[in-house]
Amino acid sequence: MSYQVLARKWRPGDFSQVAGQEHVLRTLINALDNGRLHHAYLFTGTRGTGKTTLARILAKCFNCEQGVSSNPCNACGACREIGEGGFLDLYEIDAASRTKVEDTRELLENVQYAPAQARFKVYLIDEVHMLSTHSFNALLKTLEEPPDHVKFLFATTDPQKLPVTILSRCLQFHLKNLSPNTIVKYLGPVLEQEKIECEQDALWQIATAAGGSMRDALTLLDQAISYCQGPIGAGSVVEMLGIPPRQQVFELLKAMASGDLRAVLAITGELAGQIPDYAQTLDSLLSTLHRLAIAQAFPEAIDNSQGDRREVIELAAGFSAEDLQLFYQIGNKGREELYLPGDMRSAFEMLLLRMLVFAPDPVVPVAQGDSGSSGGEEEGGSRPEEELDAVEPEPEVREAAAEIEDAGIENPRTEAEIPEAAPINMGNGGVAAEEPPDTAAGLVAEFESLPNVQKLVRNFSGKVIRESVTPSQRRGEQ
Ligand SMILES: [Zn+2]
Repeated sequence: MSYQVLARKWRPGDFSQVAGQEHVLRTLINALDNGRLHHAYLFTGTRGTGKTTLARILAKCFNCEQGVSSNPCNACGACREIGEGGFLDLYEIDAASRTKVEDTRELLENVQYAPAQARFKVYLIDEVHMLSTHSFNALLKTLEEPPDHVKFLFATTDPQKLPVTILSRCLQFHLKNLSPNTIVKYLGPVLEQEKIECEQDALWQIATAAGGSMRDALTLLDQAISYCQGPIGAGSVVEMLGIPPRQQVFELLKAMASGDLRAVLAITGELAGQIPDYAQTLDSLLSTLHRLAIAQAFPEAIDNSQGDRREVIELAAGFSAEDLQLFYQIGNKGREELYLPGDMRSAFEMLLLRMLVFAPDPVVPVAQGDSGSSGGEEEGGSRPEEELDAVEPEPEVREAAAEIEDAGIENPRTEAEIPEAAPINMGNGGVAAEEPPDTAAGLVAEFESLPNVQKLVRNFSGKVIRESVTPSQRRGEQ
């Protein structure tokens, strides 16, 4: 027996086998079970979401020899012939190849005659938006007053191109793109029955790459089976698709969150070894950034449709909202750079570096003067002061604080608590408090007589912290 591609072999034969589309199924099943049959149905949605599949199942429901129901037997002659594509009273037409009015007239010529063997004559017109205006007019006449034994089933990816006169005579069903989760759930039993081993990660990659289309997912699975010649591994699927696994995108973002430039470059190096499609990689990165931004604003809006809810919410906590916005914009704007002359890897790395360098709170330290550029301990002059307050102070600052404590100050006050009138200007803004005051005796006296003296210390950020020192404590210190 010749090989049948998975997408055909695993085409659902009844409503119970259809993946997703619950909103459409419920309406159809209720209508069929209550005998409320319409004469024209329109299925819309992107490729591979099940438009013609649903139409064929509906044709079975109408014509099953066991009677009209939402649950065709799949055993009688009509059900089997519809499934195999040889049923006399099912006219399947691809409108894309028969757009002319003559074609439509020819098709509708016999519409008045009773079906050859079944209950209903079913016209299944795929890509119906491709019909010409004259064809639509010809069709409209029949749609206005259809014979009782005729059912029209239309499918289209582009319902906007249909005349409203047609639209208003059809029951419309919009099929949604399938989530990766739905696709993974559907592919699980397929793999089991086909006796094919497949790593869970590989399955998710295929489901994500399918872009909401079950047909694409099954085709990719076919391709992976041929590519791997055995168990399907995540690594092989990465090579086949050129799309990095989600885990790698998460690793990349984790490294970016911590500003670990070395790790970022190591991961792009790993990616380069997998011959990736950098545009797809950037897309994965951007769509993950989008999910992180949503996770920050509304964690409850992140569902587990991609099996990574927990990871997304955890990762979102590592970024500021500004970072995510900026990274997204830089990535989006920089997409075209990938296609400019030069190699894509360099362009991709430059994009990542740009994101880090221009972040509001630069995660990659920018070299300043003689302070060098590695690590996060050097002065970071552009950082907001509030944040630095929370950072562990440098040893010299700690020493200074300890000195103050040793001197008996119970509650050294911070800058914010000091009244404006109290400070005196020590002039150099540096570590000045320990230096003897001016030799002029008058000045010393004045200094000694002040109720509180501001002790100036400098923390690692260059921010001046002033502490109060009483005259007696000050004398004790010297
Ligand atoms: Zn049947």
